[in-house]
Amino acid sequence: MTDGTIVRHPHRGGKGGRGYLPAVDHPAIIEGRTVYTSTVKDPAAAGGILKSGHHNPKIGKVVTKGRWKGFPIFMLTLEERKTCPRSCGSWRSCYGNNVHLGERWQHGPELEHFLVHEVVALQNRYPSGFAVRLHILGDFYSVDYVLTWRALMETCPALHVFGFTARIDPEEPITRAVAKLRRDFPTRWWMRFSGALMEKMASEVVELPEQATPGFIVCPQQTGRTLACATCGLCWSSNKSIAFLRH
Ligand code: SF4
Repeated sequence: MTDGTIVRHPHRGGKGGRGYLPAVDHPAIIEGRTVYTSTVKDPAAAGGILKSGHHNPKIGKVVTKGRWKGFPIFMLTLEERKTCPRSCGSWRSCYGNNVHLGERWQHGPELEHFLVHEVVALQNRYPSGFAVRLHILGDFYSVDYVLTWRALMETCPALHVFGFTARIDPEEPITRAVAKLRRDFPTRWWMRFSGALMEKMASEVVELPEQATPGFIVCPQQTGRTLACATCGLCWSSNKSIAFLRH
């Protein structure tokens, strides 16, 4: 299998880089939205909101090792900041600042409608298993949205989810609903809590690998030790916390 069959445009590792940082008084920072408003699309016009990981050099098309081997990977992208808690430690330096062209789906009941439709279709197409990465951008925006995922986890046994959330306030109902999914589906729901002071199942963003909190593993894709999530699998095979290099 060549790198190109895993990711459409491979690149190995990352030396980091100087990303675009909006000014503190940029409307996107104040209003809580993406910088690139024209990329926010209506899910009804999408022709599919879950996109193959093949299109993303960090994710990959299909898992090549471990318990999820053979699972195709799909991704969901929402609008950064608009769906995120203002407490997010990357509110201003969000990765989305450098995603100029990527489509973000408008959040709300319509998105949830299409999500259910597409996940059920994937369940029928891939009954042995498939993975969904939440969220390339954006976050869990309501309890109802989390409960949509809960209903899908309960009814679609092939569905496996991994990703990160900045919903880390334990008093917040959204956080509690996400954490309960982890407890109820420990082998299928791998959502880490970004910035949480936890030894396990947390994540953090650092400038340099040596700044990672002791015990945290630096994402191997970012240090060039693996091609993509598809060839790594750490996020869904270990509950160790993970450090990411700031983009
Ligand atoms: S640790 Fe592995 S699975 Fe997790 S984000 Fe990095 S490359 Fe992907």
